Parts: sequence; structure tokens; C-alpha cells
Amino acid sequence: MRTRWLFGDQLGPHFLDEPGQPALMIESRGVFTRRRFHRQKAHLVLSAMRHRAAELGDQVRYLKAGTYREALAEVSGDLSVCAPTSYAADRFVRSLDGVEVLPARGFCTSRDDFAQWASRRGSKRLLMEDFYREARVRLEVLMDGSNPTGGQWNFDHDNREPPPHQPTLGLTEPWWPHEDEIDDEVRADLDRWERDGDVRFTGQDGPRRFAATRREALHVLRDFVAHRLPAFGPHEDAMLTGDDWMAHSLLSAPLNLGLLDPLEAVERAEDAYRTGAAPLSSVEGFVRQLIGWRDYIWHLYWHFGADYRHRNALLARRHVPDWFADLDADGTVEARCLSETLRGVREHGWVHHIPRLMVLGNYAMQRGWRPDEVTDWFHRSFVDGYDWVMVANVVGMSQYADGGLLATKPYAGGGAYIDRMSDFCGSCRYDPKVRVGDDACPFTAGYWWFLDRNADRLQGNQRIARQLSARQRLDDLPDLVDQEQKRGNDAP
Ligand code: SF4
Repeated sequence: MRTRWLFGDQLGPHFLDEPGQPALMIESRGVFTRRRFHRQKAHLVLSAMRHRAAELGDQVRYLKAGTYREALAEVSGDLSVCAPTSYAADRFVRSLDGVEVLPARGFCTSRDDFAQWASRRGSKRLLMEDFYREARVRLEVLMDGSNPTGGQWNFDHDNREPPPHQPTLGLTEPWWPHEDEIDDEVRADLDRWERDGDVRFTGQDGPRRFAATRREALHVLRDFVAHRLPAFGPHEDAMLTGDDWMAHSLLSAPLNLGLLDPLEAVERAEDAYRTGAAPLSSVEGFVRQLIGWRDYIWHLYWHFGADYRHRNALLARRHVPDWFADLDADGTVEARCLSETLRGVREHGWVHHIPRLMVLGNYAMQRGWRPDEVTDWFHRSFVDGYDWVMVANVVGMSQYADGGLLATKPYAGGGAYIDRMSDFCGSCRYDPKVRVGDDACPFTAGYWWFLDRNADRLQGNQRIARQLSARQRLDDLPDLVDQEQKRGNDAP
């Protein structure tokens, strides 16, 4: 049997063909020296790899090296590897002699099934909703015969509630992993690398919040299903200053490390509905994230091709400013939504999907920051960020840089959206209703500035036609444009 080469995001048992299969793992310091990652992301990945190596014991050869190529020079015998999750790694393993590349694992829909679905669409847009429904049928998830359980596919309407008027959702704290001696060793290594000047990180060190072992990941899953899933649906889009985790599962990081198979998480959630422990709207919202969005983004990463990452349909040319790249480390940002969201990223390497999309991504698009830089920033700054996750999510969904291949309209929003879905605006020095002047909300003004700047490029998109024409009726538009040009990339 060939030795199985396990990448750092292939850490669950399903990446081996049988329990005793010999394995190779390579810890490449070069990954962290080339780019500036969040400290807690580096910690999580190294901790997860070293924990997996400890579990495998004599079954694994664990090599530490500057690069993969250096490590492989010490390895004899043929290897097999499950297809890696980035173009760069995929090209690399396929260029090596004696390495058999197997189909990717850890997703719910195979590459073949996706390709067939995409080809059946012909010239029709590859809509997530249609992909998701077909996956529900094929995988027999939340189905009663040929009908969706509860008679409807989509509970988005129920799942977009604003936050309650209270400081937190009132749920118990999520279950947190306990750090051990492997974490101590990782922390000491990262401290030394930083001291030696080999690497530079963003964000703060902190207690490891995300699961690094399969055992921990299963614990997080059980805790989520028992205590958080029931409240997940209605408030999945809401944001509260005092509640960094809301009812989110915190499973994206262990899923993307390969510690859990997404279908086992889906089965647990469906069981919770079938046994009356969680409402259908919450369970459907969670299932949609896993067999819908997660797989959809994965397949589009490959489907759109290696050059997709360079798309820049809105010709966004500004560089990501330092205050954003450094996660507002100096505390200069006054816009409450942005400062709170950057604080979350700085402290945890994680905020949920709405602050990512409607605060961080929205601001980047409004300001016209380069989509490739924004993608790279998301990849490096989030504990669950990988190339495959961020390219389609940021280039297509968040920055509309593909001109509408993925999203039907730009996810741009003004202060009114943030005010409705959060408690940020009440304590902000800006006013979400004000477009021009000292109190002008940078998101509200930024929204109109974005539309005005891109009016020609967005012309013909019916989903944004009403807003484009409303912009022409704004008396203060020239002043607003002048104000936002002056604000530019300054920390708001
Ligand atoms: Fe953000 Fe504007 Fe609300 Fe302030 S007023 S929190 S800048 S949306």
C-alpha cells in the first residue's frame, strides 16, 4: 500500500484508505514566511497537524522543512495523495514522479456530479439555490420522498431576523477546546520564529478557540447541535457588539482542516430536527451552508479556472490600506461596525459570514480596493480561510469582480442594512441616515459613491436598476462624491 501524503487540511480519518495506512506529513515553515498570516491561524494549523501526527504515532513520518520539496528529497517510495485544495498545491503534486493523485475528499458533491450539473445548465447561470436543491435530492437530506421536508426548500425569509434588543442572544458560551502541551510547543515555536524575524503575523495570540482534533471537532458539533442550532436560523445574519459567536457552529475551521466530514454534521443536524430538538428553519439554514454554499464555492473555484482570481470587472485599483491589513491594531477606526468587526478578526481570526460580507467585503468594494488583495487578506486573516474558500467567495460573491458570474448583483449595502441587522449604529459617532457632513455614515455615503462610480458598468442589471435611478435623484450627490473621494482610504 502506498504511503498517504496528508496535507494540513486533510486531517480526518476519511483521508486514509484504511486505519493502519502509513502516512507522510510535511510541516513547511515556508508557508508562514512567505505571507503574513493571523497568528491564531498559524497556531491552529500547526496544532492540528501535530495533534494528528501524535494520534498516528509510528504510522506517520512527520517532516519539518523549509519547503515541501526539501522534505520530499528525504522520502523514498511511492506516495498517494488526495487531490489538494489549491491550484498551486494541485499543480505541484501532479508535477512529481511517483505520486498518485486521488480524487478530492471532504466534500458532499463529487467533481463529476458538479460537472454534469453544470453542463446540464447550458447557458443558464449556475445558481446556488438550484445546485443546493439537486444536492438535497441526491444526498436524500431533509427530503420526504421527492418533496422537501416541511414542503419548502428555503427558509431564508425566517432566517433573516434582526438581533433582539438585548446585549447577547443569551445562549451559553460555546464549548472551548483545552490547550495542551502540543499547543504550548506550537506557541513557543511561533514566538521563536517571530523573535528570529522569520515570520510576521497579524492579529493577537489567544487561547485556541477552534477544534484542532477530530475528538474536539465532534465535541463542538455535539455542543452546537444541543445548545446553539435551535437559535441558529432566525439570527444567523444578525450581529451584536457583545456576542461575538451568536448561535454559529464554529465548525468551519475544523471542517476546512478535514477533521469532520460535512455529511456527518448534516446528519446530526437532521436528526435534531427529526427528534424535535431543533426547528426546521434552523436545521435547513445549517444544511444549506454545508451541502449548499460550502460545496458550491469549492466547485466554482475549480470550474471558473485558475485565472478567475485575477478578475476585476469593476476596475478596482486601490490598495488595501494598512489600518485594514493590520486589523485596526492601533484602534484608529471610529466607524463602530468596522472597528467591532476588525476587533473580532484581530482577537479570534473569525467573525461570521455577515460581518465578512456586509461590513468588511462591502467596505472594500465600496472603496474600490483590488479584489486580489482583498482575497489574499481574507485568506490570511481568518482561521478557516483557504484559497478554495476565499477566491470564489471574495472575487465573485463579495467584490462582484467577475461581473456577475456568481452573484446576481453586488452585495453593496448602506448603513440602513447594518443598522437593521446589528446594534452597532446606536453607539457610533456616525449616523446611518446621514449622507453628507461630519456625521455622514461612511457606509451610506460609500454605497452611493460606489453606485455612482460604477453606474456604467452596472447598467442593465435589473436587480440594481432601481437604486441606480434613485441615485440620480439625490440632490447632494456631487457633495457626497467629493466627500467620499476625500475620505478615500483613510480609516473612517
Ligand atoms: Fe457603521 Fe455607519 Fe452604523 Fe456607524 S453609523 S456603525 S459607520 S453603519
